[in-house]
Amino acid sequence: MNAMLSGKKGLIVGIANEASIAWGCAAAFRAHGAELAVTYLNEKAEPHVRPLAAKLDAPICMKLDVTQPTEQEALFAEIKQRWGKLDFLLHAVAFAPKADLNGRVTDSSADGFAQAMDISCHSLIRLCRSAEPLMHGGGAVLTLSYYGAEKVVTNYNIMGPVKAALESSVRYLAVELGTQKIRVNALSAGPVKTRAASGLTDFDKLMEDAAARAPLHQLVTIQQIGEMAAFLASGSAETVTGQTIYIDAGFNIRG
Ligand code: NAD
Repeated sequence: MNAMLSGKKGLIVGIANEASIAWGCAAAFRAHGAELAVTYLNEKAEPHVRPLAAKLDAPICMKLDVTQPTEQEALFAEIKQRWGKLDFLLHAVAFAPKADLNGRVTDSSADGFAQAMDISCHSLIRLCRSAEPLMHGGGAVLTLSYYGAEKVVTNYNIMGPVKAALESSVRYLAVELGTQKIRVNALSAGPVKTRAASGLTDFDKLMEDAAARAPLHQLVTIQQIGEMAAFLASGSAETVTGQTIYIDAGFNIRG
């Protein structure tokens, strides 16, 4: 087995169930030798996430709602106590209130927009701040974005500007944390049928279009996204930072 993450400790935020992109990434990290800490959003999610954490042999499985600073403090205190370091962090978290997500950007509420931005974008910044002192040997931070950050995608609505802010934040974080050899990258994945994606209107149509128009004429799987994430978390990508890397069967190059 290629153990490119052997001896590495990683934190995974964003597993909801076996369809989650974060699960595909976590399984790949583990297969490549990493030891993982896993979080779940709330008591409702816990019974879905705990068995997956067990499959990963994760020594840490804790509740983290990214809007709750005390939960984040407790999580990082546990990581510090158990490992004394963190090598990589995966942020695969997104949320927007349904009314705002399904309406025009023009009509979005200030509160809904702010909530989407806080949970889907500023949470990455907060996680980086907590991770920084533990990444004393350098580190890798990964987040998940989508093509709707860059181009207007029908029905992606307010998540477009939110993901644009996320991708820009990745670049600023990469510069600020680069002096400590902490790399920060976004994976821009093609559409995958997940719980979060099911909140988008006509998502099936979007998937059909992606498969039809992508140069490789296929969709991407969470396993394929996971393999790219594992590569980016590893020393093999030690000079790659501040990037938005597409894993979309080439869809983004189409005019
Ligand atoms: P998912 O529903 O499996 O994962 C979304 C996660 O966000 C869930 O685990 C949920 O618990 C978590 N979350 C929401 N609010 C939270 C909060 N307050 N605190 C902590 N966690 C919270 O869906 P997914 O598609 O795997 O989404 C993961 C990431 O991938 C998201 O950033 C999403 O925008 C991005 N992405 C998805 C697709 C796609 O087509 N599914 C494509 C590109 C990018």
